[in-house]
Amino acid sequence: MSLTITDELTGQKIVIAGGGIGGASGALALSLRGADVTLYERAPEFKEVGAGLQIGPHGVKMLEKWGLKDKVFEAGYLPERMQFRDAITTEPILTMDFGEEFQQHYGGRYLVIHRSDLLSILVEAAKEAGAELVNGVQVLGADTKDDGVTVRLEHRADGRAEQVEADLMLAFDGIHSVFRKELVQDEPVPSAYVAYRGTSDLPSDPEMKDLKDVVGYIGPRCHFIQYPLRHGQLLNQVAVFQSPRYLEALTNGTEVPEDWGNNDEFRQAYGHTHEFLQGRLHHMWLDTWWQMADREPLMDWVVSDRVIVMGDAAHPPLQYLASGAVMAMEDAECLALYASQAASDGELVWGDVLREVSGERAPRCARIQTTGRFWGELWHVDGLSRLIRNETFRQAGRASWFPYVDWLWDYDAERREYLQDPAKGELPAELKEWEYNLHKIARLRDGKDEEQITV
Ligand SMILES: Cc1cc2nc3c(=O)[nH]c(=O)nc-3n(C[C@H](O)[C@H](O)[C@H](O)COP(=O)(O)OP(=O)(O)OC[C@H]3O[C@@H](n4cnc5c(N)ncnc54)[C@H](O)[C@@H]3O)c2cc1C
Repeated sequence: MSLTITDELTGQKIVIAGGGIGGASGALALSLRGADVTLYERAPEFKEVGAGLQIGPHGVKMLEKWGLKDKVFEAGYLPERMQFRDAITTEPILTMDFGEEFQQHYGGRYLVIHRSDLLSILVEAAKEAGAELVNGVQVLGADTKDDGVTVRLEHRADGRAEQVEADLMLAFDGIHSVFRKELVQDEPVPSAYVAYRGTSDLPSDPEMKDLKDVVGYIGPRCHFIQYPLRHGQLLNQVAVFQSPRYLEALTNGTEVPEDWGNNDEFRQAYGHTHEFLQGRLHHMWLDTWWQMADREPLMDWVVSDRVIVMGDAAHPPLQYLASGAVMAMEDAECLALYASQAASDGELVWGDVLREVSGERAPRCARIQTTGRFWGELWHVDGLSRLIRNETFRQAGRASWFPYVDWLWDYDAERREYLQDPAKGELPAELKEWEYNLHKIARLRDGKDEEQITV
């Protein structure tokens, strides 16, 4: 691997809390600009749970910029198309071709890759670029001073406390971030949907061995995703469905059972879908399931002039736009870019850089979070709405689907488009009337308007 390292941030000491895809990207993007980076991950090793990740061209372009194109293409899989199919009939309703025209339009490929492969590549590249990545250390907090920040650490093996001095601290500490609490006292918002995942051998699977696409079967209250990983050697499948027990508790205002989305609910969830899907479910892992949650958008990420939250700590999304990890990578690149540009201009003031980064990134990520909720609900509609949704998808396929996706996939922090027009971060005017179903349920329940509650 040959990385190009520049020197704009030489002499800047940066600490990163959290070694997921976001933190590792931060360590890489900043080391590539010459910064002296130390990352602390509380877990004893760098590890990702789950299997596949879709990385749209907005993410692939950054991996290319960081010098990792060959590595990630070698480790992952480049699907030919994305197909949306109806989960009841399996008929295709929209096919998005990732060929020549797509690549020219977005300036990048569409990649799917095993999470742990991507994380290993980022971690190795960050180390090669000079970053120090330390496991088994929990970041407890940070105290900002005029000329820097003191970061408080705890070594998990022996409970030893330590303090380190830095110019800047990035909190990439995930959805349960301790640093986010300094900005807002909010909680994750469970979505009532739960994900089961599973990987299996692809070449020996007679039904699936020719799969070359990302395929999403979307249907009432559930969906099912399939795509190849690792050169087509592995099949990744994700089954997502609405938990009736979660919804019942939410609607009635009663206590939510801790194991909502459990195996009993999973076994019932696909009875209304096509038998092909029902037949695929035996490949899913049953010992773990992921209760899907996001948070309300946060419009200011700056904890202090020396501390900022990023990645899932700032903007955990629902997974429907497949952009949570990509947003974390965009955050990393945006910060490294704006800081190195300020340093080149002789004007590196960290507080100003952090506010500029938050001003650009927060509206963009808010839009991805809110549009993700809408997109998920559109996938899961029933009855007449389902038929209209299918026809709308077909129509987009006949005309061109680029206009619907450009805002997401054609992004470059260098353009500072959200700083220039923060209103771009809002839901489009056509969706003004739309209300997230879970907000509506809570509103009607609290207003004691129970007959109107729809789920
Ligand atoms: C089912 C599902 C499918 C998804 N599919 C996609 C997809 O296709 N494409 C996509 O782009 N995104 C996808 N996502 C979203 C994506 O996985 C996340 O948004 C992304 O991984 C977040 O990365 P992060 O580094 O910000 O946070 P995390 O991955 O949560 O990493 C945070 C890290 O910080 C560590 N940590 C926490 N607190 C501390 C502390 N105090 N001190 C030290 N370390 C700490 C944790 O141990 C962890 O390693 C999906 C998510 C789900 C659930």
